[in-house]
Amino acid sequence: MKRFELLGNDRIKRAAAEGDLGSSVIFDGGPGTGKKTAAAYAAAALLCRDKRENRPCGRCRSCVQALAGAHPDITLFNPNGENIKVDDIRCLRMESFMTPTQSPFKVFIVNRADLMNREAQNAFLKVLEEPLSSVFILLCRNAYSLLQTVRSRCRVYSMEPIDPIRAEAFLTARYAASDKTVSHGDIVEAARLCLGSLGQAIDIIEKGQTKASAAAADFLAALDRDEISVMEACLRASALNRTEYGDFCLEVTGGLVKAALERPERREIYIAVYDHIQEQKDRLADNGGVFALAGLLSVFCAGFYRR
Ligand SMILES: [Zn+2]
Repeated sequence: MKRFELLGNDRIKRAAAEGDLGSSVIFDGGPGTGKKTAAAYAAAALLCRDKRENRPCGRCRSCVQALAGAHPDITLFNPNGENIKVDDIRCLRMESFMTPTQSPFKVFIVNRADLMNREAQNAFLKVLEEPLSSVFILLCRNAYSLLQTVRSRCRVYSMEPIDPIRAEAFLTARYAASDKTVSHGDIVEAARLCLGSLGQAIDIIEKGQTKASAAAADFLAALDRDEISVMEACLRASALNRTEYGDFCLEVTGGLVKAALERPERREIYIAVYDHIQEQKDRLADNGGVFALAGLLSVFCAGFYRR
């Protein structure tokens, strides 16, 4: 049952196994936090024919088809462009009207649902209002990037971060089973740096993502979450050496420019942090200490959550 291996996230597992996931749900979490795995798991569990064992059983016809990614009543919608347009949602709506092939209902998984533009979200809202028995699972990095009207109709499940010990065990098993040789030290390091995101841990190992870029990605994701997340991200950045912290600043400023374009409603915050980081680069050049700078960054950002 390799593909259904979903670490942690007991709330999703339990709800799906009991058929009580909800008919429109949001799985929210940063890149690499296992949203797609969780959705595949939940869809299989909902349609599993075994009533006695833990669903998904992995053995019934439905589970075997789901595992192979070939279940006729599970549709994975992947955006093929920069955003999901209203026509895409209309197609999805048409499909939801069709009778399921073999199951009591259909499951639709919409990847990167946060890429739905306003018009698409309003069209989607209509789909949710229809008396259909289908289950819709929306995957997005941040539930708050969806319209409140859509969000309020969905049950939100936030992906749980995986603790370093479980991440280490997962990575050790993964690379023991593959022909890739990865040292134990690299696995431990990736498990620590990934902050609960297995996808990120794999990127650190396989794409050689640097400590600085992992810390920058973490900081940027934290900025959209809450004060505690930002404090944790800054604490992690404070462990970088001077060169790495310089790279961190560079990556963060690049990410902020992109974020400001993608989410204009938060532009003010992104620009303020951008300016602060630019100042930090000068202080770093003037021999400012990394620990102190990361601390200042944390304090600076904390202001945004107290308004
Ligand atoms: Zn089954």
